[in-house]
Amino acid sequence: MDSATNATNARPVRTRYAPSPTGFQHIGGLRTALYCYLFTRKMGGQFLLRIEDTDRSRYVPGAEEYIIESLSWLGIECDEGVHIGGPKGPYRQSDRKALYAEYVQRLLDNGWAYYAFDTPEELTAMREEYKTAENPSPQYNAFTRRHMRNSLTLSDEEVTTLLGEGVNHVVRFKIPADQTVVVNDVVRGEVVVNSNELDDKVLMKSDGMPTYHLANVVDDRLMGITHVIRGEEWLPSTPLHVLLYRAFGWEDEKPSFAHLPLLMKPDGKGKLSKRDGDRLGFPVFPLAWVHPLKEESSSGYREIGFLPEAFTNVLAFLGWNPGTEQEIFDNRADLVDAFSLERVSKSGAKFDYNKAKWFNEQYIKALTPAELAAKVRPFAPAEMADVSDERLTEICALLQERITLLPDVWEQGAYFFGMPQSYTRKVLKKKWKEDRKPHFQSLRDDLAALSDFSAEQVETTVKAMMERTGLGFGDVLQILRVMLVGVVSGPSIFEIAALLGQEETLKRMDYGFSNFDAILAEPAA
Ligand code: GLU
Repeated sequence: MDSATNATNARPVRTRYAPSPTGFQHIGGLRTALYCYLFTRKMGGQFLLRIEDTDRSRYVPGAEEYIIESLSWLGIECDEGVHIGGPKGPYRQSDRKALYAEYVQRLLDNGWAYYAFDTPEELTAMREEYKTAENPSPQYNAFTRRHMRNSLTLSDEEVTTLLGEGVNHVVRFKIPADQTVVVNDVVRGEVVVNSNELDDKVLMKSDGMPTYHLANVVDDRLMGITHVIRGEEWLPSTPLHVLLYRAFGWEDEKPSFAHLPLLMKPDGKGKLSKRDGDRLGFPVFPLAWVHPLKEESSSGYREIGFLPEAFTNVLAFLGWNPGTEQEIFDNRADLVDAFSLERVSKSGAKFDYNKAKWFNEQYIKALTPAELAAKVRPFAPAEMADVSDERLTEICALLQERITLLPDVWEQGAYFFGMPQSYTRKVLKKKWKEDRKPHFQSLRDDLAALSDFSAEQVETTVKAMMERTGLGFGDVLQILRVMLVGVVSGPSIFEIAALLGQEETLKRMDYGFSNFDAILAEPAA
């Protein structure tokens, strides 16, 4: 049993993925969602999607839909959430505004929070005044608060007047002096902080909107969250959250925390960013997007042709491993079963695009050709789109072992849809010899005479020609390949010929007979 379910958490497991719609969620966010989901399924609990949009100035239209679509692409099903509702809704923080005011009031009433009326100029002046070499940017805290304009330093009448006049103000959390705050993190163990290191964070902004910290803690409590699983960048905020639980009197039912390691660049030096993907030639987003406000866009793993099952497997291994040699989890139930927060690593997880491609190849190979055909069809270029299911399945069967991304079938198999667009001159130059031409002509006639144009029959016929003429594999097969597909790589040329069919095979050979000399005579490109 996962020890994350220990003592304080005898309640049914409830987790949440709580993204902010301030941009397009990158694969780090999606990994958080996956880990929450896997852990919750393993524990037989409930997983919900909450949108944390209290910072309206950073809201990006479409970002919320993008999150929902990404989860659905990977089959990460939510039990409750902004898109499906549920008993603890609403699940979008901007729809819960009134509720936060009530909880801020509680903290004001019990002395854990206070009003602060300082203007931006006064805050700047404070930072200037208390700045030292050791402390270049002083915080609003137990020391400086005594010198500022807030409900701790002003008289009750003054405060009432200022509030009555509607003077701009915020509500700040009153961090208690010199207390030990302990965060028990499932991944990192015990993290101990002295409260003197923390500042009096704003809980309610001047526009009446709560800050992330307040809304996050209140919602986790009201939504019955037992395990907060999120990115490592939130670890420094967690002591504040623990104190908020204390301030509200909810300490006994505070959730367990699990902070997931950062996703790192392939070389391990720093956090993975869109720029790294652009530079190294891979997306860092699950789905493609176009920013509605900026001139920016990105491709996504779905659009470049990853299978969602393969990509799930990739994400699962970014910061976790099952502790066995097993790498492929082609069955969701097995992955759920193997998953545990205890095996999440502390150190940053390097994103390795080559490894990601390897996973996709393995999943592609495991499909039946008909399944693969159905999955590659949406990627069909217009001029190839009317291929029948049956023929596409045959093409897939032939190419399945060799492709990495779904659209590769169309690119690598383009020769099934039309004559080669070019011919490898190097091979022709070396192997298209005058004295061999009659042998290829006789091969053509033998192939024309076949009544069963199967790969086996084509192979037998080609081998008979080689025996008869003394020509070797390299001489015959490379020329035949160039004739049929233009290049010398690819699956079995006998299979290719059979799939092209007798008529098309002969047509392409004939084209070679009439054009190879002319191609060779052209100046090299
Ligand atoms: N809204 C925060 C984010 O965008 C959520 C952090 C948390 O899960 O507590 O990452």
